[in-house]
Amino acid sequence: MNAPTRTAPELFDLTGHVAVVTGGGRGIGEGIATAFAESGAAVVVAARRTDEIEQVAATIRDAGGRALAVTTDVTDDDAVEALAQAAVDEFGSLTDWVNNAGGSPMRMPLQNLPREEWDRTIALNLTAVYVGSMTAARHIERGSIINISSGAGTGPVPGSAHYGAAKAATNSLTWTLSAELAPNIRVNGVAPGAIPTEVMLQAVGKNEDQLDSLLEEWNIPLGRLGTPQDIGAACVYLASDAASWMSGEIIRVGGGAKPR
Ligand code: NAD
Repeated sequence: MNAPTRTAPELFDLTGHVAVVTGGGRGIGEGIATAFAESGAAVVVAARRTDEIEQVAATIRDAGGRALAVTTDVTDDDAVEALAQAAVDEFGSLTDWVNNAGGSPMRMPLQNLPREEWDRTIALNLTAVYVGSMTAARHIERGSIINISSGAGTGPVPGSAHYGAAKAATNSLTWTLSAELAPNIRVNGVAPGAIPTEVMLQAVGKNEDQLDSLLEEWNIPLGRLGTPQDIGAACVYLASDAASWMSGEIIRVGGGAKPR
């Protein structure tokens, strides 16, 4: 075996990376943006709510990192192209793109779901991932794309057929794009388990004070709900050279596999 030329911490270091994180203003996206910045990357934080992304970018800069906030609706193709261009203009290149913006606030049997929510969910959770990935592929010379998926994309979740269908299709995009964009761009996914964020709590009809009951209901083997940092750490790994031999994989980060 050849002697390793870099240490493990060097492999996980993101210095020199420039990463776009969509939906980076709060929740999981904020966790990903923060983890990237802490690992040395310059981060472009994108979402529709300007006050939230400005706050995340300011916190990163206050901690000594590099960050830019770009107000973006990921369902607007022109805005997504402008986002990529803003990253290159500010930091000189683009190396990583995290398609994180997503979710659906509605959980109900498909027969009751308003048609508009079906269309909105597909636009945000699938079409925007396609557009984001194609935009990233035009701008990234060498780097990676990470798609935030969900367990709803790999099995039945009653009440989430619309969301699960979009996430399953996103998994398929991850697999096929990993082959089409190799060897210069790696494409992977992360499927988070239960992370109490705004959209998640809305979907399950709970509030911040009911987290204990959620934990009990879901019986998570590792004994706690997830945090945005749990997902940020997995994304740092996937973007880093530590994962340089990995593409087309979807990592589940969800508090342990439940016994059957
Ligand atoms: P959240 O509501 O806390 O954050 C969603 C982010 O996406 C926000 O910053 C919001 O502004 C942004 N966003 C929404 N629509 C947008 C649009 N059209 N354009 C740009 N930005 C937009 O939700 P979250 O739980 O952090 O979700 C992040 C991702 O994680 C989603 O893809 C979601 O499906 C996935 N996920 C979450 C959980 C969970 O338990 N929280 C589990 C599995 C998967």
